[in-house]
Amino acid sequence: MLQNIDAGLVVLNRKFEVQVWNSFMENHSGILAPNAKDKTLFNLFPDIPEDWFKHKVESVFELRARAFTIWEQRPYIFKFNNYRPITGTADYMYQNISVFPLTSTTGEVTNICIIVYDVTDIATNSLALADANQQLEHLSRTDRLTGLNNRGYWQERQEREFSRFQRHQAPCSLIIFDIDHFKAVNDTYGHAAGDEVIKLVARTLLATARDIDICGRYGGEEYVVILENTDANGALIFAERLRKLIEKLTVTHEGKEIKFTISLGICELSLKIASAKQWLELADQGLYQSKEGGRNQTNIMDAPKD
Ligand code: GH3
Ligand code: MG
Ligand code: MG
Repeated sequence: MLQNIDAGLVVLNRKFEVQVWNSFMENHSGILAPNAKDKTLFNLFPDIPEDWFKHKVESVFELRARAFTIWEQRPYIFKFNNYRPITGTADYMYQNISVFPLTSTTGEVTNICIIVYDVTDIATNSLALADANQQLEHLSRTDRLTGLNNRGYWQERQEREFSRFQRHQAPCSLIIFDIDHFKAVNDTYGHAAGDEVIKLVARTLLATARDIDICGRYGGEEYVVILENTDANGALIFAERLRKLIEKLTVTHEGKEIKFTISLGICELSLKIASAKQWLELADQGLYQSKEGGRNQTNIMDAPKD
């Protein structure tokens, strides 16, 4: 029966010499039982980390306890190629291993028994699921058109920055901006041309921002960015750089050249600001001033006085 179970079975003596080697082990290793007999495990499988393995089974010998390893900790102990075409994504057989003591009639542990379970199917499914979940999570927080953080996820990040500020007060500024007279772009050149403009502005924002800055698409042609470790003056430098870059851009759509500008509002976070929502509203008031003042400009909005 032990020969035919669909699991590897190896018995080792105290010197880690093979005493039993079943057909599963023969089939997957290509080593026949007579050739494995009395060889030490570490000679047969030089890939097995000797110190680690000895430490792992010490308690099996000394305390008669069982020991386990699972594929999440260590994908395999015995490096067997994975031949199954269905799970072709795995190069090696993933294994769960169980080790238990074999006691002599005098109660002494003379040998240990290793059972090797092939868990390649479970492991590859589980890894594929984790991968799919990660992709889904990325999709759920990303704006399709621009690749920027979408509104929901950006708001989550903004809340987090707001909470963090309550503890540390490292300077942090928020910029909101909106493309000027964008309806006219759509009306004159069509919606597809408008989309190209929205995408190019997003790319320019990403290229101007640092990795730690949190950029998002807040609405149709409205963008937001949180600049960490940046006060209002620093944010103004950023905003003006972005504004001047965008002013110089041209989108060519069906042979027509489209020019556009943005208006921006800035608000630096302070303890006087009561909520993430108020922080954004203040920046939006700055944006409103920029629109009122003639567009293609930046305004800073201060936190309310006491
Ligand atoms: P203002 O200077 O005051 O901002 O003028 P505006 O014309 O830009 O005014 P408003 O912000 O109200 O107009 C935004 C327009 O953006 C209206 C809407 O049709 C368009 N829009 C929103 N989302 C998209 C989109 O994903 N693609 C395109 N092409 N247009 C969009
Ligand atoms: Mg607009
Ligand atoms: Mg708008």
